Amino acid sequence: MKVVFCCSEMAPFAKTGGLADVCGALPLALMKEEVDVCVVMPFYREVQQRNIPFKMLDHDVAVANYQGLDVFFIKNEVFFNRDGLYGTPHGDYGDNLERFAFFNKRVLQLLKDIRLAPDIIHCHDWQTALIPAYLKFYYQGDSLFEKTKTFFTIHNLAYQGIFPRDKFFVLGLPHELNSINGVEYYGQLSLLKGGLLFSDYITTVSPQYAKEIQHRESGRGMEGVIRFRSDRLSGILNGIDAEYWNPEKDTLIAHPYSMNDMSGKAKNKVILQKESGLPVCEYIPVFGFVGRLSEQKGIDVIAQGIEEMMQYPVQLIFQGVGEQRFEDLLRSFQRRFPEKIAVHIQFDETMAHRIYAGSDLLLMPSVYEPCGLSQLIAFRYGTIPLVHHTGGLVDTVMPFKLTNNQGDGFVFTRFDKESLLKTFETAVKVFEDRDLFLDLSTRVMRYDFSWMTSAVEYRKLYQACIS
Ligand code: ADP
Repeated sequence: MKVVFCCSEMAPFAKTGGLADVCGALPLALMKEEVDVCVVMPFYREVQQRNIPFKMLDHDVAVANYQGLDVFFIKNEVFFNRDGLYGTPHGDYGDNLERFAFFNKRVLQLLKDIRLAPDIIHCHDWQTALIPAYLKFYYQGDSLFEKTKTFFTIHNLAYQGIFPRDKFFVLGLPHELNSINGVEYYGQLSLLKGGLLFSDYITTVSPQYAKEIQHRESGRGMEGVIRFRSDRLSGILNGIDAEYWNPEKDTLIAHPYSMNDMSGKAKNKVILQKESGLPVCEYIPVFGFVGRLSEQKGIDVIAQGIEEMMQYPVQLIFQGVGEQRFEDLLRSFQRRFPEKIAVHIQFDETMAHRIYAGSDLLLMPSVYEPCGLSQLIAFRYGTIPLVHHTGGLVDTVMPFKLTNNQGDGFVFTRFDKESLLKTFETAVKVFEDRDLFLDLSTRVMRYDFSWMTSAVEYRKLYQACIS
């Protein structure tokens, strides 16, 4: 079975969030399942700067081999040779429609050029959501794509690829798609809607999120379209690359450790506290936060409760980049509580590993969360997540109960400051019982959230779709 992954980011080449992790790891796991996969993504400046050994296939297509996987990069000096993938901290690039419409068309042209006839083209999020439509309307009757089916995965329904309707002509799609039956969306255009309507099968990244997005509260206006396609929708939980995120072999942390010997974790905590400019103390619980600074990640609710949180003997270490207002907000926390809060406004892989390894707990009060990878990474490092009961966090974090010592994280259900604070207080209390907390930390390190289970599910779905 031949599968072509089309995506706008892929770790380790270019990453802004979980989408890159998925597109970097799932194809490798599928290869182990005997699926013949390759990936196509844009040749961003960031990719160019990585000095990857690649060969040019055409004047605008490079190919590199990554752990046995062919990755094709589409070059375009004007569209992709920029600092950001989608924009700057001040907002999205004004020509994202042109950039990704170009990319979508060029992917299919590339497959024609190299005569690659896929069984499945697997598209991800709005940036590649028009490929199923282009395939249907441009290549109908083309023998190369005769048997090709398309998959579309929603990684985050909040990002819908919304553009002004008067730009419809840029897409080069048939006129009738400029309507409610096409990519028109409340007087604008949504590229994501193209993926929802024209793909053969839709997946999203957790079973719970697959349910939530069919309802008004989480459907973000797409719930009707999604319900319309619900017989072709599945939620498959994301995994993590368990080799890459492995505290025993992690070269980015100073002291590798395992559940049999947690002494390295304590040493990593000391280093993290020092590197973050905080007092070194093993008895103070360190809450780490690693995430995009967007409304989704719950910084607002943390801001509402920050005064009360600071009444406890705790340390909070944040790392993230994103919207200016959140960067400013975090910096203001640090100025107000320099002994208790450290802030790293940066995208830094090494520091992310050090935070996962050196923290006792992970703070992840996301407003919504399609799947969430940070909590899975945290488990791997024996770091206990404190999360909001939503989306993939429901599927992966079971509320810890003191009464029977069951569960693996601290979960608040109502999304408000009071709920968050109550759960925060419980987490601090449980941390104080050092044996209990150590037991919890080592227990979660046993979990297997590797990609193999998900890869098997995807392979089965691909198979069902083409037979
Ligand atoms: P999302 O996809 O919504 O951004 P996920 O939890 O699914 O959130 O995945 C986030 C991924 O991005 C994780 O691997 C996390 O460690 C990483 N990440 C987010 N922000 C940063 C950052 N500032 N530096 C390093 N890694 C980051």
